[in-house]
Amino acid sequence: MKPVIEQIPYFADNIAWLVRCENSALVVDPGNAEAVSSFIDREGITLSGILVTHHHSDHIGGLDKMINRTGAPVYGPNDRRLPLVNHHVHDGETIDAGAFRFEVISVPGHTSTHVAYYFTDCETIFTGDVLFAGGCGRVFEGSPAEMLASLKRIAELPPKTLVCCGHDYTRSNLEFAMTVDRNNLLLAQRLASLDKRERFMPETIAVELATNPFLRCGDEGIRASIKMSTGDSDEDVFARLRSLKNSY
Ligand SMILES: [Zn+2]
Repeated sequence: MKPVIEQIPYFADNIAWLVRCENSALVVDPGNAEAVSSFIDREGITLSGILVTHHHSDHIGGLDKMINRTGAPVYGPNDRRLPLVNHHVHDGETIDAGAFRFEVISVPGHTSTHVAYYFTDCETIFTGDVLFAGGCGRVFEGSPAEMLASLKRIAELPPKTLVCCGHDYTRSNLEFAMTVDRNNLLLAQRLASLDKRERFMPETIAVELATNPFLRCGDEGIRASIKMSTGDSDEDVFARLRSLKNSY
């Protein structure tokens, strides 16, 4: 049976994700135990596992309470800042957890041990704070080149793959994108469509490739708008875009 994806918003803009098969589910990045618990209690869901993408507290703050309540195993990177992880995951590994199967993709840059989880059954990737809808995370523990390589690995997945990220920064990301890619009609349409949505709308890799400037470092229009030329490397263009977004 194909799992379904559900979102649990918490704090101002965080999103925890459920991968669900009937009454059993995995949760990704339960940063707030109350929000996740009330959702799974209401739906009568048993947790088969907890997945964490990286160590930042807004993504793992609910871990101890979730473990105490459910006893579910915790999958995550091998990092001393993640002491509650009891199943270490590694790049390229395929993991079976109850009714679920997922692949681990190492995506350093935002943090040095950040991972993404790719579910082929439901054609979805959970990208934490690396690839956002219309943008990407800040580069805290790696180089711009490392972050760009991580983004490119995600972007190489099948185009119909759905991108489920850890924050809803979509409006700010797309408004910034318009400043560097103003002739992009699909981008303008994507930004306009935000007025009609009631909650976060994950898009496909194909849509991200067409509208997310951090995946479009080779685009000549974007390069011209930030005063870079065809001779500059993608890494240089990415670093310039990231620095412009930081001060946007
Ligand atoms: Zn983070």
